Amino acid sequence: MADTIFSKIIDRQIAADIVYEDDLCLAFRDVNPQAPVHILLIPKKPLDMLSNAGAEDQALLGHMLLAAGKITRDLKIDGAFRLVINNGKEGGQAVFHVHMHILAGRKFRWPPG
Ligand code: AMP
Repeated sequence: MADTIFSKIIDRQIAADIVYEDDLCLAFRDVNPQAPVHILLIPKKPLDMLSNAGAEDQALLGHMLLAAGKITRDLKIDGAFRLVINNGKEGGQAVFHVHMHILAGRKFRWPPG
């Protein structure tokens, strides 16, 4: 997989406002926030799209969901937040390194735009 802006954040070649890190994943504040709290949670493993994840990624993806829960508790937004994964260009994905958006601090509408 080609380098992305997110792999450069993992390698500390680009600075980011990191809020959580463990062996498998990293979370940092989105540079262009769409809500008062907007965190991006990424796996350290290079994986371009959720749709390309395989059975070998089951534990990693489960780990990331639990990490998202921990982050929301630590930031005290666990009462109300939204998790979003954009997949593919038409799905709104701009950076091709899998990431979960964790959004909070405002009311969210349904259906999403
Ligand atoms: P997506 O459209 O789902 O691929 O989301 C990519 C997100 O990455 C967008 O919300 C961007 O604002 C965010 N982003 C791009 N570059 C950076 C960066 N250097 N640091 C933090 N967030 C970034």
